[in-house]
Amino acid sequence: MVVPRSGPPPGGTIGGVATLIELEREAGACTRCRLAVGRTNVVFGMGNPSADLMFVGEGPGAEEDKQGLPFVGRSGQLLDRLILEEMGLTRADFYITNTVLCRPPGNRDPQEDEIASCHPFLERRIELIRPKVVVTLGNFATKLLLGTTEGITRLRGRSYPFRTGVLIPTFHPSAALRSGGETVAAIRADLVRAKQAMSRREQVAPA
Ligand code: URA
Repeated sequence: MVVPRSGPPPGGTIGGVATLIELEREAGACTRCRLAVGRTNVVFGMGNPSADLMFVGEGPGAEEDKQGLPFVGRSGQLLDRLILEEMGLTRADFYITNTVLCRPPGNRDPQEDEIASCHPFLERRIELIRPKVVVTLGNFATKLLLGTTEGITRLRGRSYPFRTGVLIPTFHPSAALRSGGETVAAIRADLVRAKQAMSRREQVAPA
């Protein structure tokens, strides 16, 4: 069973940080984990700071590290296209970030302690932005935010109560670049689910 995580993340909280701008400044100077050593930029996140919709990926790749922006490489271009086609939205309409804010060397998977170090930055943004719908892209974001060890293939295809709204897990777009058709179709279906959830006010719990 999946029990959505509640309470402060294991890496501590950043509860005193009042705005996204302050939080971004703090992240920009972060040396909480070894990923700080190899980064060109901290890839904090981008988009609408009061969006109803938030996407959470895995971690920056080479292009994201270079530009300091999330999902600007090939998988991001595919994701943008699918979001536009299924939801009619562009980056000005949602907020997008990653589980870890600095590029893991050689695009390796982020490690448990790196994810834990970065988790407070993600949690504080969820508190500040208060999205109705969080879409997690792939295993790392999904497992972290749902507090489960279950994999994305089993978890996707439905929505989960999450904070002040719902969480909808889907495959990472890089999986779609690798495997094509069926994975793309699954992501499309999950984006339609997200669009429907955004228009269902009754799913949003009181503050
Ligand atoms: N993959 C991710 O998970 N995030 C990015 O920003 C780019 C690729």
